[in-house]
Amino acid sequence: MKGVTYLKTKNKEKEPKQKPKFGTLSCVRFMWRLALKHEPMIIWIGMITITLLFVLNNLIGLFLSPMIISSIEQSLPVYKVIITILIFVGAGMLVDGLKNYLGGFEWYSRITLRSILTSMVSEKCARTSYPTFIDDKSFGEARRKSSSALGSNSGAAEAIWQTIQSLMVNIINFAIYVVMLTAINPILLIIILVTTVPGYFYSKYINEWHYRHRTEHIEINRGLECVLQESANIHSAKDIRMFGIRPWFDDMYRSGMRLSEAFHNRGARVYIWKNILDIIFTFLRNGAAYIYLIAMVLDNGMEASEFLLYFTMVGGFSGFVSGILGGMSDLHNKCLDISAIREVLTYPDAFPLDEGKDVPHTGRPGVIRFENVSFRYPGKEDNPYVLKNISFTLSPEERLAVVGLNGAGKTTLIKLLVGFYDPTEGRITYNGVDLKDLKRREYYKEFTAVFQDINIFAGTVAENVASSMINVDKERVKKCIAYADLTKKIESMPMGYDTLLNRNVYEDAQDLSGGEKQRLVLARALYKEAPILLLDEPTAALDPIAEFEIYNKYNDMTNGKSAVYISHRLASTRFCDKILLIDRNIIAEEGSHEELMRLGGKYAELYEVQSSYYHKDHKNTEGGDSK
Ligand code: ADP
Repeated sequence: MKGVTYLKTKNKEKEPKQKPKFGTLSCVRFMWRLALKHEPMIIWIGMITITLLFVLNNLIGLFLSPMIISSIEQSLPVYKVIITILIFVGAGMLVDGLKNYLGGFEWYSRITLRSILTSMVSEKCARTSYPTFIDDKSFGEARRKSSSALGSNSGAAEAIWQTIQSLMVNIINFAIYVVMLTAINPILLIIILVTTVPGYFYSKYINEWHYRHRTEHIEINRGLECVLQESANIHSAKDIRMFGIRPWFDDMYRSGMRLSEAFHNRGARVYIWKNILDIIFTFLRNGAAYIYLIAMVLDNGMEASEFLLYFTMVGGFSGFVSGILGGMSDLHNKCLDISAIREVLTYPDAFPLDEGKDVPHTGRPGVIRFENVSFRYPGKEDNPYVLKNISFTLSPEERLAVVGLNGAGKTTLIKLLVGFYDPTEGRITYNGVDLKDLKRREYYKEFTAVFQDINIFAGTVAENVASSMINVDKERVKKCIAYADLTKKIESMPMGYDTLLNRNVYEDAQDLSGGEKQRLVLARALYKEAPILLLDEPTAALDPIAEFEIYNKYNDMTNGKSAVYISHRLASTRFCDKILLIDRNIIAEEGSHEELMRLGGKYAELYEVQSSYYHKDHKNTEGGDSK
């Protein structure tokens, strides 16, 4: 939706010329090698055999009519003329049939190769460093362009084969015609080139209008798609009905459509010139060729069959010249998208993930130390500091609570602790080694977590808990589900632990309530047996009784682990050994619950506000009951 509003305020008439990171030839080489490795049928059948069949077909077509006329001119017997026709037509049909038959196989290989590239890109997105994926705008831009290249059959990743194939057909045909025309009539060759090339370059400039404005086009489409998706999103269904948002969506959609219409009208005004020019240049070319050939018939006694052959060649030849020039510019455009795909695949990570020292293990959860850590988010120069001079230690098996108001930087602190981001200043160590020097992906294995945004993946209950589709340990799943107090609910469903979740993907999937989803992700966090447990508002969607029951199990759940716990419910922090209160970017208070209460500072104030609310509530309820 942002895209639509954004476009209202920005004039995108002139987009800067795009400089792809990888050149056209390099992209063609990349695709060619990829095809040879994974789907060689594209090369052997599509690019070589079918290309040659196209050329053969064209030659059959070229000689068919002149041969018939020549047979008549030579007064050959009718049966010979018929045999000639049958041979040509039969060969044409055979070549055509073979081409279509092989094309069917090759088409499937093209789709398969596109899906291989899609999974390479999605793997890169899943495995790249967190800041690259979340904050890096040029990675985001390359990712968007690559998804338009991969998203459909007409995207560059698949359509490039069509472009290469027709380019090769045109080049081979061109070469054959050049040889034939130079041998027979070089003047005709010059006439065709003079009338084809300049016209081509002007229409190419016009033709590329869409490509020069494609970022604008992508943004308009993104805005429209976003409105459509949001209005059909089952998770938005309640808000749409409750707040009457439908007309708002309609307005957004209409304004998006107006932008889209204006864009296409601008394009149409430009393209009309291309059509006019095409007509003018075709007229000039055919006119000149006609005059020349008629003169040859009248003055040099050229035969009708020859006249027909040359005239067909004139049309065909200029078609090949514009086919080559057009194919090259089409190839260049396709390669801009292929370049975006390669940019994603080779995008440098914000930090190395697999290089560095091994994670130092001691047989217990490691000691994590923040030393004077300050942090601001990457992306924009003027991003403010979210955390300033943070120093603390998380000792093995310690339970640490992080509290503070909304936006104080609690989640950011967790992201730094797990190594999703590097500190802007200061350092974080694990058993004395700077996180920057550790193999980051190994380090992630030290953690398991419940994050604020609950994600239920498309799969069964058991797969969701195990975060995997293979080697699911059913007994462990059951144990974790029991910890999260979800056994009754799961076992009441007909498919039990095999019940499908995520209605966005499976129509017959089961819907869970917000609290049930939260319990499920808690079970998922417990299933991964990692030494450090991170809980970011893990009970926000639970009712007070459920929350209380989870707290009671908290000791048991964190047994032998270190734990970092973010919560607004200050009562829950009493289960922790140490509490950090973050306020205005710094650790304002640090200590146990009792120590901070004795301190009588911000923590005590927040605690009092919450507990007085509960007390009042409790008294009111009691009063209500007694009436
Ligand atoms: P808390 O968890 O305490 O509610 P967060 O750590 O989520 O707070 O956010 C702290 C601040 O950092 C907020 O002002 C938020 O807008 C900002 N912030 C969070 N993520 C990003 C990001 N990716 N880029 C820029 N700013 C961010």
